[in-house]
Amino acid sequence: MIQYEKPIDSIVVGAGILGLWAARHAILQGERVVVVEKRKVGAGASGGFLGALMPHMPDSWNPKKQMQLDGLSTIQDAINLLEKDTGMDCGFRRCGRLMPLTHEKMKTHVELRMKGAAEHWGSPYKLRCMECWKDPLWLNPEIATHGAQYDSLSARVDPRKYLTALAAFVSGRATILEDTEVVGLHPERDSLTLSNGEVMEAGKITVANGWEAYPLLQPYLGPLNENAPIGRGVKGQAVLVELEHDDGMPIIYNDGTYVVPHAGNRVAIGSTSVKDWQDGSYGSPDAFDPDDMGFYHKALELVPSLVGAPIIERWAGVRPRNTLAGRGTEPWFGPVPGHGNLIALIGGFKITFGIAHNCLQVSKSR
Ligand SMILES: Cc1cc2nc3c(=O)[nH]c(=O)nc-3n(C[C@H](O)[C@H](O)[C@H](O)COP(=O)(O)OP(=O)(O)OC[C@H]3O[C@@H](n4cnc5c(N)ncnc54)[C@H](O)[C@@H]3O)c2cc1C
Repeated sequence: MIQYEKPIDSIVVGAGILGLWAARHAILQGERVVVVEKRKVGAGASGGFLGALMPHMPDSWNPKKQMQLDGLSTIQDAINLLEKDTGMDCGFRRCGRLMPLTHEKMKTHVELRMKGAAEHWGSPYKLRCMECWKDPLWLNPEIATHGAQYDSLSARVDPRKYLTALAAFVSGRATILEDTEVVGLHPERDSLTLSNGEVMEAGKITVANGWEAYPLLQPYLGPLNENAPIGRGVKGQAVLVELEHDDGMPIIYNDGTYVVPHAGNRVAIGSTSVKDWQDGSYGSPDAFDPDDMGFYHKALELVPSLVGAPIIERWAGVRPRNTLAGRGTEPWFGPVPGHGNLIALIGGFKITFGIAHNCLQVSKSR
């Protein structure tokens, strides 16, 4: 029998970035909360170390880009409050992002993006085109043959520090049940079932268990999708290197490869798209595949100062990718139709860290 205080107002399934934010919001609203986590806090995609907070391109504006802008422009305040509440540092910095321009035609795209940024991002965030970056060891001019695009909206956070601070806030005010798996949802009875057969009841159930939410939510969101799968997991890999650097340097992004400077002489390098991992050739979802290091070699070409920097950690994870009819990969933050007490927080694809703190506001606007 699992021990927790009853009655519960709100159960959150999953202790990743979305589940912990949902729990923080619920606690701040005075709710009695229990978080149910199959493994440990941060055992899913949120437990990596990349931490890039990067906007979509500001041309061809749409509601998803607005949602992301709302997240990126408010995240610093949200993190400041969390840091104040916990006395813990989350490693946030508005460091900006550089993308090399590798052929002339890209400059035309940048012009459109500059207009889009001026119209939609507003002050103080800017996007501009530059001839070259001041440090050729941070962005290789032989790759950035036609200059670079720079934006000042992008930022970085240390995912593990961020999660640790959220977990500290939540665990001091609510129960986190680790090593406890949810195997079934019963919104019509305000309850869910655990793998040991126990039934838990609460007025609100928030499902935020990453890519593993799809089988739980398929019976409720599947009908909106003509019963096709509502999403799938996409694997990604990353390495952490030790390198003395100015951690105010911008993130470098090119062709799916991220280079993210962090404090403490750490630089994270990663890519979030390993295709076909579910065919079994990659072993377990979080197994790092040493034969899939193309992203790392690309990073060494992009950022020459990384050459020779020792790798101190390797990590792989699986992120959720929604495939909802008419909504594509857009996250689903909100009640499930017909079940106002069942809230789904799934998706976010590569951008979850920049929008997770706003999940409740997005959910309310649905
Ligand atoms: C290599 C890589 C790099 C990435 N880089 C970035 C980045 O730089 N910036 C960015 O914004 N995003 C990035 N992402 C994406 C981002 O990590 C994810 O979108 C995000 O972490 C998803 O958070 P989540 O809370 O939805 O899920 P998760 O973090 O996966 O958390 C879900 C939790 O639910 C638990 N769980 C699963 N099933 C159950 C169950 N049945 N019962 C109870 N608990 C359960 C899991 O154990 C897990 O702890 C990256 C992803 C990868 C793989």
